[in-house]
Amino acid sequence: MSRGLAVGIDVGGTKIAAGVVDQHGHVLASRRTATPSDSSDELVEAVVGLVESLRTDHAVEAVGLSVAAFVDRDRARAVTAPNLAWRDVPLRDLVSSRTGLPAVVENDGNAAAWGERTFGAGRGVDDLLLVAVGTGVGGGIVLGGELRRGGHGMAAEIGHVTLVPDGRPCGCGRRGCLEQYASGSALVAAAPPDTDGPMLAELAQSGDAGAVRLFEELGTHLGVGLASLVAVLDPEVIVLGGGVAEVGDLLLTPARTALLAELPGGPERPAPRLVPALLGNTAGLVGAAHLALMERA
Ligand SMILES: [Zn+2]
Repeated sequence: MSRGLAVGIDVGGTKIAAGVVDQHGHVLASRRTATPSDSSDELVEAVVGLVESLRTDHAVEAVGLSVAAFVDRDRARAVTAPNLAWRDVPLRDLVSSRTGLPAVVENDGNAAAWGERTFGAGRGVDDLLLVAVGTGVGGGIVLGGELRRGGHGMAAEIGHVTLVPDGRPCGCGRRGCLEQYASGSALVAAAPPDTDGPMLAELAQSGDAGAVRLFEELGTHLGVGLASLVAVLDPEVIVLGGGVAEVGDLLLTPARTALLAELPGGPERPAPRLVPALLGNTAGLVGAAHLALMERA
């Protein structure tokens, strides 16, 4: 087993969260800082600073980085990141040489999928799809008990599955992507002006019909998209995470209904269970730390 302690680090668009994680997935200590937006040097500096500060009190043996970026197949380089200041940065080697610790770099959706699979809602499940609905829509795929990264390390970009041909333009350069209909950004875009995501969640939870309907529409789009993914991957469980999913059944119920209605093969076909994520916003950090411990072992 993967014993010992690792620092897991979640590098997001606005903040970097870091934690000391043990082999049971427990976070023993944590720190966070704002994500520097100017240069990759500053980003690496911030990451190294968090590791050094956490290891003063804990015998850390490895570093796992979960990054909102395309990561190469060797899990060494952050190839490109729409929301971060790096292009083709050899992150693994930079962090490793500065800290003297082995490091792994993982895409944030993959890391979260591994975290939920190992310690969360997908524990013990070998065939699992993680869907993270936040500002965008991300994901991770575990098949046969292993994280599937694809031929170039870029699998599971499920936010960019086409949902509506010739639909809304997407930041990826195409049109009609799932992310343009089933993300937090899409939710806010469809809401009255000056309403943000947390406000909408609060309104929906208090029974506001307009807000409930927006989550229903989002959930329905999500369920339709997931049905296509189920046709390809046939997961046993779909774990629904991300900030938007924290509204729970307001999103899960319409997503489940649409998924079942759209499932290829009809009602006789065994359906995956659609369940809420358990690890919240620590899934990526914990998953990356566990991957780092496995790698080191
Ligand atoms: Zn797209």
